[in-house]
Order: sequence, then structure tokens, then C-alpha cells
Amino acid sequence: MIETDIMIIGGGPGGYETALYAAGKGLKVVIAEEREVGGTCLNRGCIPTKSLLHDAAHASLCNAEPQAEAFKRAMERKQQVVAGLRQGIATLLSNPAITLLQGHAAFVDPKTVSIGEETVKARHVIIATGSKVKMPPLPGIKEPRSPYVFTSDDLLCAPTLPPTVCVIGAGVIGLEMATMFRDFGCKVDVVEFLSECLPTVDGEIARRLRKTLEKSGIKIHLSCQVREVNGNEVLYFNTKKKAEERIASDCILVATGRAPQLDGLQLAAAGIRYDGHGILVNDDFATDVPEIYAIGDVNGRQMLAHAATAQGRHAVNRILGIEDRIRFDIMPAAVFTRPEVASVGLTEDCANAQYPDYTVHKGFYRSNGKAQAIEATEGLVKLICDSKQPNAKIVGCHVMGANAAAIVQEVAALMNFDVTLEQLMDIIHIHPTLNEILLQAASV
Ligand code: FAD
Repeated sequence: MIETDIMIIGGGPGGYETALYAAGKGLKVVIAEEREVGGTCLNRGCIPTKSLLHDAAHASLCNAEPQAEAFKRAMERKQQVVAGLRQGIATLLSNPAITLLQGHAAFVDPKTVSIGEETVKARHVIIATGSKVKMPPLPGIKEPRSPYVFTSDDLLCAPTLPPTVCVIGAGVIGLEMATMFRDFGCKVDVVEFLSECLPTVDGEIARRLRKTLEKSGIKIHLSCQVREVNGNEVLYFNTKKKAEERIASDCILVATGRAPQLDGLQLAAAGIRYDGHGILVNDDFATDVPEIYAIGDVNGRQMLAHAATAQGRHAVNRILGIEDRIRFDIMPAAVFTRPEVASVGLTEDCANAQYPDYTVHKGFYRSNGKAQAIEATEGLVKLICDSKQPNAKIVGCHVMGANAAAIVQEVAALMNFDVTLEQLMDIIHIHPTLNEILLQAASV
């Protein structure tokens, strides 16, 4: 039996970062991980996709070797990147204040967790078990699954490059994978139920991205409801044309969302409540069982790696009685398509509903010197303010174009300090940079 201050279940960016933070604050920590440290983010998510997207863009721009060869080498490099980072996390976790247990964790009671033969008694428990692929209950997708149907987990270790790919779902994962396969030279179709891609992104930015992706060769079929997969065919109903249509493909990627990972956790033994989105928590990520928190994808609030990390930090602060200023309403996010999309704060539609006097300020990549110099002239920056007053506060920023994430990160930092449009104009920006487009937008 091990006794500890904090028991953390799950070693993803929520769990392992929280373990390191808690240990840094002088707490004794036990962390359980049943697969590999780094979680979905490092092993099946953020990092492998970005490594492959990088190599795919390079292959597309240089065209130096056959695409199948480029894909194989990209897969090998991705493995090395992931293995190196995983080793780095294992080294960080070899901190004397942290005990890493390899195995499946399950509640015995609210203060006791079993991991294989081991039992841990903890003053506080933080659940960080993440999420898993959600498969829609359609013929050919849910068991028995067509051999042509894959998840992002499967495709991130695909042995060969499929000549044609059909992606079901035009959300973040679907569009990033579509970009990657297009850049490796595959023929790519995307089938989406909604009338626009990326439903949580500002409407104008999502529309512009779709048009740019379509121009680059990806075929996007909107307002199309997939009915079934039959062998290598996706059968769907096109609600605009009111007609059944089908696409045959070597590879069908299902990217329709993720579900909380609760398998075998025995939440009932601790009396923890959950619904289809995840474990129910308050704004401090506490469950309604005293001293038990649930952070990251498993609570279904903001399914992002940096959100998981920030939530874990906040939970530890609550445990220690530390007041922090983490603003969970200011959550920057990016989609690493080519071009990139990133956003923070209110979309134009949300601002319209909340502030009758809201204003929108736009800047364009094509009139920026750096964008011209690096041949990245396709793009738009949108700043959203809460009023027409000179001291209007910035409440949102949405960008499509090269380095969108870096531009949005600057605005996210400013929003954390409630900066106004005028104050942004007073900040000197390095020339030539794409971030100067913010000044161009603010001056309009
Ligand atoms: P996870 O990373 O899922 O980690 C949970 C860990 O808990 C896992 O390692 C699991 O094995 C372990 N576990 C589960 N149950 C148990 C148990 N009972 N006992 C012991 N261990 C258990 N987010 C971004 O911010 N940026 C991106 O670019 C991005 N790209 C993505 C691309 C893809 C293809 C996918 C799938 C996701 C992407 N995400 C991205 C989302 C990101 O990966 C998740 O938001 C993040 O990993 C959530 O972190 P977490 O710690 O909550 O859970």
C-alpha cells in the first residue's frame, strides 16, 4: 500500500504536467499510466500529426522524391520524434517526489485506487484519463467494421500511403489529416454533415479556409449525411441535392469526434457522476465527490492539450489554496491545416449576440511585407472588439494564414490583461513580421 498526497490517473499532458507541477509545489505524487506516458497528445495526437504535416508540406513543395518514399520516411521520423519526447517525459517523471506506476487504475473507494497488484491511498485524486475515438453507430463503421475504415489512431501508423482517402467529418482532426494526405499527393474527399466545416471557428474564417482547401484540390462535400460504409464505399445523402451519393476510396477515415475515456475506472465505487460528454465538474474541475478532480479531455470541456495542462495546474492550486489568474474563457486554439487557422475569444456571431456595439477590424496578408517575401499572401486577420469607443476592449481574434497560431497567441496574451485596441496600436512590432498585420487590422 502506498500513501500519497495526490494520485493522478493518466499520463497525458493533463496528468504528467500536473504531476510535475504538484511535485514542484512540494507534494508527494503517484501517477498511473496504462499505455505510454505523453498520452494521446504525444503518441496519437498533436505531435505525430504535426510531424507528418511538416514532412507532407515539405514533400508537396519540394517534390524531390516519390510520394510513397516521402511518406515512409515521414513515418520513420515521426516515430523518432515521439520516442525522443517520450523518453524526455520519463526522465522528468523520475523526480523523487513522483512514483510512476505502469498499469490500469480503478477506484476501490473515493480515497483508494488500485493499479494491478498495487493499492494507493490518496488525500486527493485527479482523474486525467483523456478521450478515445468515437465511432458513429452506422453499418460498416461500428462492428463489424469494413476493412477500409480507419481511425486517426490507425492512420498515424499506416504502413503505406493510400492513393485515395475519404474523410468523414470536417472538424479539426479531419481537416488536418485531409491536408496531410493531400500534401502527400493523395486524392482526398471530405464528407461533412453540417453546412460548413469547423463549426466552432468564426464563420468567415471557416468559409475562407474551406475555399482555400478546395482550391488546393481537396473535395469537400457539405450538408451530406453519411448513412453507411459498404466495403470501400461511403454512402451518404446529399441534403441540398436531395440525392443518395457515394464515394469509393482506398481508405475511409472516421473523424467524427472523441468520447471520454472512462473504461474500467469503476467511477461508481467512488460515487463520481458523468454523462456522455464526460465526468461532471465545476469551474475548478472538482467533481461533486470531495477531493476528487477531473481534468482534460475526460471532462469534455475543452479538448485541447494545453487546456488539460492548465486545468491540472488550477486543480493543484485549489488543493493548495493558491489563487491563480488562469482565464479559461481565453483559450487559444489552432488548426494546423495549410494554411493554418487559429482563434481566441468570441467569434463574430457570438460578439454580435453579446455586444450590440461590437466592431470587427480586418487586416490582410497580401498587404504585409513579410507575407509577400515568404509567398504566404493568402490570409486574413480579424480582431473583434466589444464597442465602438476608442477604449474598446479586444474580445476575439481569428486568423487564417501562415503562422496563424503565433499571431493569435500574441492576442491571447493581450486579452489576459484586458488590452484595448488603442493599447495594441502602441505596442512596437518587429518588422518585417506577419504579426504586423495586427497593427494593420487595428488601424482600420
Ligand atoms: P490524454 O492525452 O488522452 O491522456 C490520457 C492518458 O490516460 C492516456 O495515456 C491513457 O492511456 C491513460 N489512461 C486512461 N485510462 C486509464 C486508466 N484507467 N488507468 C491508467 N491510465 C489510463 N490538441 C491540441 O491542443 N493541439 C493539437 O494540435 C492536437 N492535435 C490532435 C490530433 C489528433 C489526431 C488527436 C486525436 C488529438 C489532438 N489534440 C490536439 C487533442 C489532445 O491530444 C488532447 O486534448 C490531449 O491529449 C488531452 O490530454 P489528457 O491528458 O486529458 O488526455
